[in-house]
Formats: sequence, C-alpha cells, structure tokens
Amino acid sequence: MDLYDQHIHSKHSFDSQAEPAHSVLRAIEYGLAGVSFTEHYDTHPDERDGCVYDHAAYSATINRLRDRFGSSVRVGKGIEVDYQAENMPAIVDFLDGGGFDIVLLSVHWSKGKPIHQEAAWDGLDPSRVTRDYLVSVLDAVRHCERLQRGRSPIFNVLGHLDFCKRYSKRFAGVVCVDEHLDVVDEILVSCLESGLIPEVNTSTLRNDMPDPMPGAAAVRRYADLGGRMMSLGSDAHRATQVSANFDLALSILRAGGIEKLAVFHDRRASVEPIGGANSECGMSSLE
Ligand SMILES: [Zn+2]
Ligand SMILES: [Zn+2]
Repeated sequence: MDLYDQHIHSKHSFDSQAEPAHSVLRAIEYGLAGVSFTEHYDTHPDERDGCVYDHAAYSATINRLRDRFGSSVRVGKGIEVDYQAENMPAIVDFLDGGGFDIVLLSVHWSKGKPIHQEAAWDGLDPSRVTRDYLVSVLDAVRHCERLQRGRSPIFNVLGHLDFCKRYSKRFAGVVCVDEHLDVVDEILVSCLESGLIPEVNTSTLRNDMPDPMPGAAAVRRYADLGGRMMSLGSDAHRATQVSANFDLALSILRAGGIEKLAVFHDRRASVEPIGGANSECGMSSLE
C-alpha cells in the first residue's frame, strides 16, 4: 500500500517554521509515496495581513523540491483554504489559476469568531458552540456544492470536520461532538452529494486526544451512508510530525468500513486501496 500525507504545512504558512525540504526528507525516511503541502490561505480581513502566503515563492519551492526529490517521492502542491462565504468568488478565481494538486476546504471560523481562539468559547455553552461550528461546516459544504455545479471540482477535501473539538477540550475541558451527530450526518451526506472527500486528520492524536478529526463514529457513519474513501493528513507543522499516527488512523478506517484512500494529483482523485495491515497495492485511476 502506498501512503500519502495530504495535509502538511511549512514556512509558507503563518504558523509553521518547517523547512519544506526537511518535511520531504521525513516523508522519504518514513517510506511515504507522496506528501502534499497544504499551506494556509486566509482571506478574513482580520487574518489577511498575517497570512504569509506568497504564491510565487511557494510555487518556486515546490518546483525545487520536485527537481531534488521527484524520483523518490511525489511532492504535491496543495492549499488549505479557510472558508469565508463572502470571499468565495475571488477564492475560486485564485484557485483556478493556481496549478494546485489538492485543495482543502477548512472551516476555522464560526459565528464571526475564530474557533481556535478562546474568545469563541468564553462564557458560552461549549455544546452550543460545537453545534454552531458544525452548522458552519455544513453551510460551507453546501455552498461548495452549489459553486461546483456544472464545472470541474474546486475543492477536493473537507479538512478536519470536527476541528472545534480540539478547542472545546482546550478551553472548556469537554468534547461535545457526539451530542450533535445529526449535524455530522448532514455534513457527510452533503460531502457525498458534492464529491468532497472528508479527511481523517491525525493532529488531535498528538495533542492528548483519543480520536482523529473526525472520530471513529463519523468514519463508520460515512461508510454506512455509502462513503468509500477518505483522505489522510497529519496537519504537520513540523517535519517530525509528517505522517504521525497514521497507523492508528488506518486501523480506524478499516474498522469503520472504509477500504480506500483518495489521493489527489492535479485536483483529480486516484484510489489507493487500504487493504490489510501488510498489504501492498498499486494505485488505480478513478477515471
Ligand atoms: Zn485547518
Ligand atoms: Zn492545516
């Protein structure tokens, strides 16, 4: 089985100092078939000035990495788009000319606040904030589905579906996602309708949490609803975090009935069968 880490950050993101070549060397060391950089692209007025994304510099880095490491590992040029409903027309224009392999749709804001900051939780019922966040994710997926009608896919992967749980744990000491599985269900159904592949994001597993984002219940539910493949990402912000906890994520996927990973190149998916713990499988095209 060929493994790809399809969600990592480098110094081209505001919150990472990682040297891109170090992350690729780690991917080779760990025996990955590929790694996709997915740098933050933030357009909210409060974040735009702090978003260090520089498309020309990032593209040049990717080209250098491919020249240096391309015979050993596939280096994907991706991006993690922070969902901001009012900015979507400009975002879509940018993405169409960006030459990306994979585009993540990620929701970091809910009810006008960044969910990863304490102000989003302060003095509020964490269950309510959790539900509001999940409804924001649902709105984003439905918006994406409308945008993609009659054209090629804009977004490929839904990043960290229940991202809010990392912060409800941090700021309120609780995780409330299981109280709102009705909304998670709607998100998963909307993903299937829009062709958006949900990611299993392992970053919570290195932050003292027992589940990836989303957790095992959502993975199983996605399979029950007809979902067949998901995307795997570590959300590494340091080279040492590349592909961290993938073994556990793969066992959760297998146990939940997901048998394939979706791997993106040029914004199109190929299928990588997960198989058994020791299986070796080649890639086959979806098309
Ligand atoms: Zn994110
Ligand atoms: Zn990320």
